[in-house]
Amino acid sequence: MIADEQREIRELARRYADERIAPRAAEWDRERRFPLEVFRELGELGLMGVCVPLEHGGAGADFLSYVLVLEELSRADAGVGVTVAVHTSAGTLPVLAHGTPEQKQRIVPPLAQGHELAAFALTEAESGSDAGAMRARFDGGRITGTKQWVTNGSYARHVNVFARDGDGVGAFAVREFQAVREEDKLGLHSSSTADLVFDGSPAERLGPPGAGMRIALSTLDGGRIGIAAQAVGIAQAALDLATAHAKQRRAFGRPIGAFQAIAHKLADMQTEIEAARALTWRAARLKDAGRPHTVEGAQAKLFASRVARHWTGEAIQVLGGSGYTRELPAERYYRDAKVTEIYEGTSEIQRLVIARGLLGALDGAEG
Ligand SMILES: Cc1cc2nc3c(=O)[nH]c(=O)nc-3n(C[C@H](O)[C@H](O)[C@H](O)COP(=O)(O)OP(=O)(O)OC[C@H]3O[C@@H](n4cnc5c(N)ncnc54)[C@H](O)[C@@H]3O)c2cc1C
Repeated sequence: MIADEQREIRELARRYADERIAPRAAEWDRERRFPLEVFRELGELGLMGVCVPLEHGGAGADFLSYVLVLEELSRADAGVGVTVAVHTSAGTLPVLAHGTPEQKQRIVPPLAQGHELAAFALTEAESGSDAGAMRARFDGGRITGTKQWVTNGSYARHVNVFARDGDGVGAFAVREFQAVREEDKLGLHSSSTADLVFDGSPAERLGPPGAGMRIALSTLDGGRIGIAAQAVGIAQAALDLATAHAKQRRAFGRPIGAFQAIAHKLADMQTEIEAARALTWRAARLKDAGRPHTVEGAQAKLFASRVARHWTGEAIQVLGGSGYTRELPAERYYRDAKVTEIYEGTSEIQRLVIARGLLGALDGAEG
């Protein structure tokens, strides 16, 4: 059950997604176009800062409302979903959580209102899952190094950058950098994934010295719940498409949905999507209550991403040959779903997080 205010925000996002995103998603995918105008419009609707307090320019709603919005946007276009997810939970919320009052007042409102886009730069060529192996360095108020695969990289004005700082790792807010290369990806073609070069970029510290890894990991704890919502949205889109097709497509004199093999596939698909949604909402509610949600967020992402990857493939199966063509969006859902098992921590890393919660820190355990 969700509250009336949460339902209203979801309706707003659903209407916008159906009218302004879904009809254009195939074209953005084909042309690899970042739909900048959409983020301005989402800003006007208050959807670029759903869970940012009113006094900082956001909509003042809770994290669950934000998760509902991400599901709706991702149902229409997963690239738009990830742009908003990274902008909000990895770009804006760390400033709110760790910035000084002055930093919050200066940095957050343009982000929450959608006037500027934000990004999160942790990964480097030699440090992905093993983020602590990063080489970017902060020295004398400046950062030098190259970050890889930064979502929103080519369009962001504000970037949270993680860099070596003395013996530890620090978190920094940066506005001057160069986006040097857009990644050529399997899917998410309407999103930007760029390499960023910091060549002595002026940087201001976020949080205390040496707190960088703690800030990065706590950011990812919340971000994973958003990626779980993205996976649920993609899977729901695939279910809607496959269900409509099963009612209308006929073979051997009857709709294919009348064959038990197809009907049971759709029944399993719907059941697992509901389970993924329930795990996602549970993690979001824990975060809203200020309670620990590291394990629950990892469980939601691990399960929802597998559901999305598996069932988008099965949706293609229900559609037959037409599912394998670009005439229908099933193949895009399939391509887009895969990355939810990789970014904001791979599925292997989610299992490490869950197992650590279960077993505690054991001598000789990996991770
Ligand atoms: C489209 C896209 C957008 C992204 N956006 C961002 C972003 O905005 N900001 C950012 O900082 N990064 C971003 N990333 C990077 C992403 O978070 C990393 O790709 C991810 O963390 C995995 O790191 P890696 O690719 O280096 O894989 P690796 O760490 O090299 O892992 C390779 C394989 O080894 C496995 N593995 C590694 N360590 C272990 C272990 N201890 N136990 C078991 N298995 C292990 C992994 O699970 C994986 O299967 C993005 C990536 C993509 C593809």
